[in-house]
Amino acid sequence: MNAPEPAVSTMPAKAATRAMPHTLNTYGRLPIALSHGRGCWVWDTNGKKYLDGLGGIAVNTLGHAHPKLVPALQEQIGRMIHCSNYYEVPLQEQLAAKLCELSGLSGAFFCSTGLEANEAALKIARKFGHDRGITRPEIVVYEKSFHGRSIATLSATGNTKIQAGFGPLVEGFVRVPLNDMAAIENVARTNPNVVAVFLETIQGEGGINPSRWEYLQGLRKLCDQQNWLLMLDEVQCGIGRTGQWFAHQWAGIKPDVMPLAKGLGSGVPIGALVVGDKAVNVFGPGNHGTTFGGNPLSMRAGVETLRIMEEDGVMANAAAVGAALREGLQRELAGVAGVKEIRGAGLMLGIELDRPCGVLLSRAAEAGLLLSVTADSVIRLVPPLILTASEAQQIVDILCPLIKTFLAES
Ligand SMILES: *Cc1c(COP(=O)(O)O)cnc(C)c1O
Repeated sequence: MNAPEPAVSTMPAKAATRAMPHTLNTYGRLPIALSHGRGCWVWDTNGKKYLDGLGGIAVNTLGHAHPKLVPALQEQIGRMIHCSNYYEVPLQEQLAAKLCELSGLSGAFFCSTGLEANEAALKIARKFGHDRGITRPEIVVYEKSFHGRSIATLSATGNTKIQAGFGPLVEGFVRVPLNDMAAIENVARTNPNVVAVFLETIQGEGGINPSRWEYLQGLRKLCDQQNWLLMLDEVQCGIGRTGQWFAHQWAGIKPDVMPLAKGLGSGVPIGALVVGDKAVNVFGPGNHGTTFGGNPLSMRAGVETLRIMEEDGVMANAAAVGAALREGLQRELAGVAGVKEIRGAGLMLGIELDRPCGVLLSRAAEAGLLLSVTADSVIRLVPPLILTASEAQQIVDILCPLIKTFLAES
């Protein structure tokens, strides 16, 4: 039941002349070099100003150069950046306690990226199975999902383009479509090796595809019945982005395992695996580790990000401004042929067009707006959560005419 082995890409290699010849050719970069930022605005090295609708891909929760975050991080850098996990790190304890308070879960492990948090989740699931005598544990994963670029997380990812050229993939995954209860009930009936269900509460890279709340409630029930772990990848949709601390809270459920990363440190690399009672004792000493994970600088960034979010009502802002942004987009794009759907929650929004629209990336940048296009035809907006209503209106004012022109010409 593993994903089919994808064919190796037969695309010819890119021409040798590139703007950045010494970095590997892994990104189709825009020819823009960003120099500095303030709030939801960034400037390039030519002095051109952009409204940041991308937030470093859902990372810069508090925007750029936040006046409360900067002095706190400066203080921390002057005190200690890194010390290793050979010693107690009080800031880890502090951030773990806060994440447990906000999520209702019981413990946290810290790493530095989203894929590492997911890698830890996959290891917990397998060990959870082995501890119960399942020697070939399998994990249910989803079509159109994205969990990272390591060999295990790209194997869990539901995108053959991302997998192409990197086989053999890691085995032990069973793939189902999102929001299809019958499909996963069928897995429960036929596969005794399953130990966990692993999905993004709202798929990000796959095109901003939300799990239906009833589906999540159904999964919670099924996982309880089957003694499976419910593992919700909130790397992109977590940390207040949807107007709840964690997107699954809209459905009134709790996962057993929750990987976090992107927005947790407002730009400082950080990942976390937050787990509930069912998974809190799966790892013991020696089962998992990382050199950088949980260092004082990243922990301070997490602690301060959450503190400032609470102090300044940033999550409520994401909900309110996200709703206003969505309404603005809906109003401007209503009835426009070629606009298929506007979806998402809070400040995690996708506008799906009926055709590939990657060209809008450079056109929007030219017009002074940063954004991304994902799953070929979905314009993704994941701006800083401090976006103001007036900045949301400016996104609408810049973006909607570009979309209409694009659809009229192509
Ligand atoms: C970005 C992302 C990841 C991978 O995070 P990295 O920090 O790039 O490793 C994993 N899962 C989801 C849902 C993501 O959006």
